[in-house]
Amino acid sequence: MEHTANTLYRSLPQVGELLDSAESAALIDAYSRDLVANAARTVLARVREEIRLGRHDTTSLQGWRAEMWRAMEQELRTNLQPSLRRVINATGVILQTNLGRAPLSKAALAQVVEVASGYCNLEIDLDTGARSRRDVHVERLILDVLALRSGAAMGSLHVKLGAAVVNNCAAATFLALNTMAEGGEVIVSRGELVEIGGGFRVPDILRKSGATLREVGTTNRTRIADYEGAITPESQLILRVHRSNFRIEGFTEQPTLHELIELGAKHNIPVFEDQGTGCVVTLSDYGVQDETSWLASCTSGAALIAASGDKLLGGPQCGLLVGDRAAIERIRKNPLFRALRVDKLTYAALQSTLLAYLAGDQESLPTIHMMRLPAAEIQRRCDVMAAALHADRIEAEVVATGSVVGGGTTPGATLPSFAVAVRHAAMSEGEIATALRHAEPPVVTRTMGGLVVLDLRTVEPADDVVLIELLRSHLGGTESIARGNAVERAHEARR
Ligand SMILES: *Cc1c(COP(=O)(O)O)cnc(C)c1O
Repeated sequence: MEHTANTLYRSLPQVGELLDSAESAALIDAYSRDLVANAARTVLARVREEIRLGRHDTTSLQGWRAEMWRAMEQELRTNLQPSLRRVINATGVILQTNLGRAPLSKAALAQVVEVASGYCNLEIDLDTGARSRRDVHVERLILDVLALRSGAAMGSLHVKLGAAVVNNCAAATFLALNTMAEGGEVIVSRGELVEIGGGFRVPDILRKSGATLREVGTTNRTRIADYEGAITPESQLILRVHRSNFRIEGFTEQPTLHELIELGAKHNIPVFEDQGTGCVVTLSDYGVQDETSWLASCTSGAALIAASGDKLLGGPQCGLLVGDRAAIERIRKNPLFRALRVDKLTYAALQSTLLAYLAGDQESLPTIHMMRLPAAEIQRRCDVMAAALHADRIEAEVVATGSVVGGGTTPGATLPSFAVAVRHAAMSEGEIATALRHAEPPVVTRTMGGLVVLDLRTVEPADDVVLIELLRSHLGGTESIARGNAVERAHEARR
């Protein structure tokens, strides 16, 4: 055995030998000598490992040699592709942080291309030629949207409120705490000392902001009297954190935001809410129950509200701070504001997103559109897909399921939806899911009771045909290579 392995190792070509061969010349021409050498080293290291694991004999190694050039070319191609790329989201989770949260609208994308392809007036006032602030481009729009959606008079809202934008809601919260409460105490309920996701924990961010945590109440019950009892001359801020990714049910109590604001007013302590969702539509119109909204919070009289741009607002990743003018001015003066500022791509996409609400065209935002899709329409698409798969003798059925808004919003709420569930005699559900993740483009699915489930709510209708072809080539019988090519063509045509 030892002897055989050594013989096999010795029979492998050297990198230099490979590079000097005739087959290499074309590859070196297309790529470069260094890249081809790297690819050769990778492919050789892989086969050495296979030999070490006892997976080769003389015959199989001959097979490997015949395939070696193809493997090198594949390696070269993979290495020159961006690793971040589009995937098809068949999970039915509309805002999936791992899949990039809100997809941008066509208008937002076009605006990003327009603004970023050349120069733009990011910080110049085109009327006077003087330097201006980058966030003037969205402040008015944010307030316009809030006024329009809340039915408030635009003028009065603009006099009272200001808005600023940073990298994400975590940054907005950090900046708010640092600006409003550094060196002082922040009063917060024990039921809100939560982890928002991605390791963002409220107590940790509070500590880092330089504020001292003053916990009140218990995990399930906190009363307004608990807040009031904790007020000292050191109290700088009352913090409210929206429980956006979980629910506490049963014997619970929590003061309303309004009660907190009243208490704050009585003691001259501002209230800051980490609201998170950025929702300005009425979720019950979409069949989703949620007790809070960014819109309601921003017009509540709280000193400052933080929300994400890429959750229910349906825009780019950013953190939106809305609050009374004095608080927003303090935010802008904090040197950390400069460190957390966003770039022109974000402003371009955010402006277009906000403009969609102003134009009453929020359905053009994919997040809103996907929430709105009627289950019956999704079912129709599932029927078509299942029929196409049956024609190829693939085991597929249409099942009722629930889509999730997700992304740390509306915990527990589901939207009735339909999915295509697939099965394969020779593959486990894990194997099917893995094969689909390795497809081109990759497909992310859910597994449920031994089946791989594709919820079409989060799949662009134009991708249905791509999905059918991918399922055929991975779960169908023969001709898979020809079908693989058809997938590539469908994919190309889509671009
Ligand atoms: C999602 C969320 C955050 C984090 O937002 P990012 O934009 O991901 O930084 C913070 N607070 C609440 C309440 C959230 O829902």
